[in-house]
Amino acid sequence: MAERGFRVVVAGAGVAGLFMAETLKRAGIDFTVYEKAGEVGGTWRDNTFPGLFVDVLSRQYEFPFQPNYNWSRKYAPATEIWEYIKKVARDRGLARYIRFNEEVVAARFTGGSWQIETGKGTGDTADVFICATGFLHKPVFPDIAGRESFAGPSFHSARWDHSVPYDGKRWGVIGSGASGVQITEALAWAGVDVTQFIRRAQWVHIRDNPQSTWQERLKLRLPGGYAREQRRLWQLINETDSWRLKPGKLREAMEREYASFLDYIKDPELRQKLTPDYNLGCTRIPKSDRNYYQAVQLPNAHIVKGHIDRIAPDGVVMADGTHVALDVLVYATGFDPHAYMRPMRVTGLNGVTIDEAWKERIYSYGGIALPGFPNLFMLYGPFGPVNNVPVPLGLDQEIGVIMQLIAEARARRAAVAPTVAATDKFLARLDAAFPGTVWVGGCKNWYTSDQPTPVLWPLPQDEHRAFFATVRPEDFDFIPTGQAD
Ligand SMILES: Cc1cc2nc3c(=O)[nH]c(=O)nc-3n(C[C@H](O)[C@H](O)[C@H](O)COP(=O)(O)OP(=O)(O)OC[C@H]3O[C@@H](n4cnc5c(N)ncnc54)[C@H](O)[C@@H]3O)c2cc1C
Repeated sequence: MAERGFRVVVAGAGVAGLFMAETLKRAGIDFTVYEKAGEVGGTWRDNTFPGLFVDVLSRQYEFPFQPNYNWSRKYAPATEIWEYIKKVARDRGLARYIRFNEEVVAARFTGGSWQIETGKGTGDTADVFICATGFLHKPVFPDIAGRESFAGPSFHSARWDHSVPYDGKRWGVIGSGASGVQITEALAWAGVDVTQFIRRAQWVHIRDNPQSTWQERLKLRLPGGYAREQRRLWQLINETDSWRLKPGKLREAMEREYASFLDYIKDPELRQKLTPDYNLGCTRIPKSDRNYYQAVQLPNAHIVKGHIDRIAPDGVVMADGTHVALDVLVYATGFDPHAYMRPMRVTGLNGVTIDEAWKERIYSYGGIALPGFPNLFMLYGPFGPVNNVPVPLGLDQEIGVIMQLIAEARARRAAVAPTVAATDKFLARLDAAFPGTVWVGGCKNWYTSDQPTPVLWPLPQDEHRAFFATVRPEDFDFIPTGQAD
């Protein structure tokens, strides 16, 4: 039998999986991507609710290898982001590397390679296994009694049912996070009768989202480095944007600005309901392009604050006994941010599973790798999301290091995993950085959930770049596999 060549398997064809795929393709490495859905795009394929716009500048949500000078707005609508991602996959010929509708259900490191199992019963073997399975991917429903009894259409915000008409229906939206805010705002302006159920008020960023002008689009195309200069400027802004990281004047100014947005609310009772009781930035800040605070003052929009007791066939019953009659119910209740690749069963050295490894605490080295799991990489794994770094930029840094590690391991005919000592050092550095940041002490947020510290990067952006630029081979164990090219 012919000897198997060096090979990589990637799970997931969202932004991260496609970025990885293009990089592997360019490096001439044999690889396959398994995608459990029938199309690329991940988040931007699944979330099609009204009012969804990207929350960083559109131009910062580009793959570095494929700039787009055609964004319609400063912050593009989600549909446009998805079209762009699909175009990238098409232009780069990535579909032929992807096996759609095939979920990786298990992966085991044995005999120096990864044995992959998919939901279709396919077995595959890879030297390197990369999980690009997303960090906001697995929808979560609240544990509210009577959920199944609701008589009308009901669905999670990430599974929007476009067959349900808006007109003549009373819509309920459960949740005050970014999705809940954007959906409520969109439905309210569309004249739909909408009630948003909130337990806790959020800080909301009321922002302008102008259309891009033809002059702007033209300038980006002209020689003279305007597009490059713009990028350089954003990089500078991002690297000096430290208000989330330490107390001081910058943070105070931000707090004043956000508090002033509440002045849009004229009714003192409504203002009281929508005034957050925790520090700014502790949760991900919903972005509002069409002024959420004005939208919820429309006569067709209602805010109900408090604890939901149960869901009845014809609506929602609050703990104080109030009954809100509804025809449609949307769960804007978020995702399980600590699932990562799970429920996939991942087994590393000595039969240790990922569930066992993460039993006490979810951790990683740099958000990309784990001790005891050789040649397993994660994109945006635990501690991957970086303060204010646009996802594609963070990926660029992660993928750069993963490619270096793959090359080094390949040259040594070995599989690579971070040492326990290096991982502990990494975690200690992050743990030490959290005090003083906006993410601790003030509120419960999805970054933390049941974890001792939030699982995001709490240091300045330039330190993220520096960390990945200085990853040292000494931080890794190289376990011989004997696998030749
Ligand atoms: C509503 C919403 C709005 C957001 N807005 C922004 C924003 O404005 N700006 C921003 O920077 N970020 C935003 N994010 C975060 C967003 O998730 C990331 O920007 C980015 O899309 C993550 O890409 P990804 O490829 O890592 O994950 P995903 O987009 O989640 O893609 C993961 C892919 O893996 C597939 N998959 C999962 N498990 C398996 C398996 N076992 N086998 C095979 N395939 C599998 C999934 O089907 C999916 O296609 C938002 C997230 C949500 C949910």
